[in-house]
Amino acid sequence: MAVDVAALTPEQLREQTRAWLRENLPAGWMEAVDTGDDATFAQLRQQLDYDDWCVRLGEAGYATPTWPAEYGAGLSLSPGQAKHVNDVLSHYKVPRPFNIIGIGMGGPTVMAWGSEELKHRLLRGIATNQEIWCQLFSEPGAGSDVAGLATRAVRDGDEWVVTGQKVWTTLAHVSRYGMLVARTNPDLPKHQGLSYFIVDMQAPGVDVRPLVQMTGDAEFNEVYLNDVRIPDSMRLGREGDGWRVAITTLMNERVALSGAGSVSHEGVGGSGVERIIDRHKPVTDPGFRQRLAQAYIEGTLIRLTNQRAAARRKSGAEAGPEGSVTKLFQAEYNKRLQKLAIDMEGAAGMAWDGPALGRRERMGRVAVAPDDARSVPVGFLRAQANTIEGGTSEIMRNILGERVLGLPKEPDNSRELPWKDVPRSG
Ligand SMILES: Cc1cc2nc3c(=O)[nH]c(=O)nc-3n(C[C@H](O)[C@H](O)[C@H](O)COP(=O)(O)OP(=O)(O)OC[C@H]3O[C@@H](n4cnc5c(N)ncnc54)[C@H](O)[C@@H]3O)c2cc1C
Repeated sequence: MAVDVAALTPEQLREQTRAWLRENLPAGWMEAVDTGDDATFAQLRQQLDYDDWCVRLGEAGYATPTWPAEYGAGLSLSPGQAKHVNDVLSHYKVPRPFNIIGIGMGGPTVMAWGSEELKHRLLRGIATNQEIWCQLFSEPGAGSDVAGLATRAVRDGDEWVVTGQKVWTTLAHVSRYGMLVARTNPDLPKHQGLSYFIVDMQAPGVDVRPLVQMTGDAEFNEVYLNDVRIPDSMRLGREGDGWRVAITTLMNERVALSGAGSVSHEGVGGSGVERIIDRHKPVTDPGFRQRLAQAYIEGTLIRLTNQRAAARRKSGAEAGPEGSVTKLFQAEYNKRLQKLAIDMEGAAGMAWDGPALGRRERMGRVAVAPDDARSVPVGFLRAQANTIEGGTSEIMRNILGERVLGLPKEPDNSRELPWKDVPRSG
């Protein structure tokens, strides 16, 4: 890119972003947002070719502004600088890639552990939404204790042959690549015998089956791996070092799920509360007013904590406990917020007309109007997963107790035993 974006001041960064949007968004989009012309905005959003838009946004670096520009998608910005770009994108309601696992976890893991060749090969496809990624960690017998997983990878020359079953794999049905942790040495204790691979989800032997949720949607899947061959060049980290690589993915997942990616006011904080007020104003019921005020305070606390974490990262300090604090608090908060939304909706919140929000709508390809009647009950049902996905609230409390408060570790007799000797059901 001609301009050295990383050298710009905050106001120049914002102006640069606005200028790019002016050139690339459909004519009238930004004016419709600025003047609150919802009808025109909805029409323009409906007409936008989402897939094509994601490619342009990604190639220009705006989908992943903190990624190094040299890999074909990114602006090499610090998290603090990226906030200014993201603020402008959020303000103008710019559609973003639904490749959240690739952007939030896959890319950062490849950047931390991958060869230069892999970085050049993989990062651009993630940022442009052309290659969707999924996370193949959880198994029927290994969720919270994911290091106990049983999927086997056996070396065969320059390849690995993988057999096993994964579950709850979000976006596997549309994914090009999966982050896979598999057991390469069952004779070692559970954390030591693991290796980390990037698997081509279109390879022979990968069988993806949808799991339908109570929202009526099927955003996640079971994935059966039947003698799937993975080239050794797609291994991240040394053989047996998979747990360390997995920690990189899990740390980034926690940050992504805590809302820390959106430190602006538009993300976590007041916006959920404002949406509820917009649907029901004027709110006269004193009970609801009280709960709205409480939700606003809690949302603001999360936003400020995320800002503090971003400032720490910016100053080069190590990641603090904020990620685990806000993952836990954000998940519990969102459940309270969605409960408030549905309580205020009354009887209308208990059902909706027509189909559930389908995959295409959830994935951003079709715009869902904020006043779509389905969004309240579906939001309430979906929020129940927040305290499970990315580590349950109980596990987050264990982590905070042990690593932040310094309380004694939970006893775990299986840690030192060879994995093959650990008693397991099934
Ligand atoms: C919407 C959604 C999307 C997901 N997407 C993915 C994905 O893309 N990829 C992926 O790999 N996984 C994914 N998961 C799986 C998720 O990571 C696991 O569900 C989660 O880690 C919990 O594991 P589990 O379901 O096996 O429950 P279990 O580990 O069996 O836990 C059952 C209950 O026991 C509690 N418990 C377990 N151990 C302890 C302990 N030591 N102390 C206190 N309480 C404990 C748990 O908190 C929970 O309440 C997803 C889950 C959801 C809900």
